[in-house]
Amino acid sequence: MFHTSFIELSESALRKNFRFLQKKVGKDVLISSVIKGNAYGHGIRYMVPMAEKCGIRHFSVFSSGEALAALNSRTENSKIMIMGHLDNEDIPWAIENRISFYIFDLDRLQAALTAAKKLGHPALLHFELETGLNRMGLSKEDLEAAVDLLKKQPEDWKLEGVCTHFAGAESITNYVRIQSQLQNYHKQCSWLRQQGIELGLQHTAASAAALSYPETRFDMVRVGIAQYGYWPTQEIRMNYYLTQTNGGEKKIKDPLHRVIRWSSRIMHVHTVGPGEFIGYGTSYQTSRTQRVATIPIGYFHGFARTLSNTGHVLINGRRSPVLGVVNMNMILVDVTDIKNAKKGDEAVIIGKQNRSNISVASFSDMANFLNYEVLVRLPGEIPRIVVE
Ligand SMILES: *Cc1c(COP(=O)(O)O)cnc(C)c1O
Repeated sequence: MFHTSFIELSESALRKNFRFLQKKVGKDVLISSVIKGNAYGHGIRYMVPMAEKCGIRHFSVFSSGEALAALNSRTENSKIMIMGHLDNEDIPWAIENRISFYIFDLDRLQAALTAAKKLGHPALLHFELETGLNRMGLSKEDLEAAVDLLKKQPEDWKLEGVCTHFAGAESITNYVRIQSQLQNYHKQCSWLRQQGIELGLQHTAASAAALSYPETRFDMVRVGIAQYGYWPTQEIRMNYYLTQTNGGEKKIKDPLHRVIRWSSRIMHVHTVGPGEFIGYGTSYQTSRTQRVATIPIGYFHGFARTLSNTGHVLINGRRSPVLGVVNMNMILVDVTDIKNAKKGDEAVIIGKQNRSNISVASFSDMANFLNYEVLVRLPGEIPRIVVE
């Protein structure tokens, strides 16, 4: 009621993904569930309790706003870590709520130490090291100055971890750069140890590195896209398949399962004679008498306009192509050959229907987006329903 489409979130799919990932990285490696971008479009408030049911106790967010959403959603005493934005004025809030955060410059470190002293509680810090991504992170000089600051007020901080982020471990083209980042990381970590600093959790890997580069796993991996059931790239998928088959013929099942299923219903069906244009403009002309169904989702709902005349939805288990341009609130699809398609029938935009499957991957390849982008564009207003 009151909604044009629904998103189902599968708890069993999520559980299978975590099981696979934990087995892959090893049981002693902590998995941090990355839930930035409203949990890659899935919804933070649904993902956190679902992941906790699967045994996850560590969450990574980009901003303080997301940390607040995670804090309000957790049902366990799970840890929350801010990898990005946090205004200095919100640092006391983070300290009081035991939320850890990245330190990538001296300004934030100083603000954290000052706030911690005032509150009488240590700030929980993760040092982010600049190793070659050239985005955020402490340079070698910053690191020396940071250690001086730490030594001045030893009671006001706890170093929970030392981390870095790779410049695209999902592609072999970046191999040399990643290896050099890893070396820099090792170097700076040993320098820190020489200063008598205990590093806490060492963590560097996101999904791609966690899956393909065992030497990047250390104590914790920050897993985003893979937990939701997607390979970061086809290359990482292939790499996994190659290690599994050993060149043999054994058929392997995809170990990752999509958590999301997005569906709507046919709003209207009508018949159009041959030679007519469908919808706005002239981009689609009928070649015969065709039956056209209206589905109440459009680019407002995250169905990309680039899917005009190229996208598909599933109706009665069959692929039904988008006719003409994607509207703000509607698409028109061809149901000429889906004989009994009628008003009220389910249309699946992402996910399974009967034995057919329409994936974000195929959806996004068509739209020339990455999985990441398609997912995070799913509006927060579409209702989410957690299913087994
Ligand atoms: C987004 C992000 C991750 C997770 O990336 P995936 O490729 O989705 O696994 C990990 N670490 C940092 C710092 C990130 O920004």
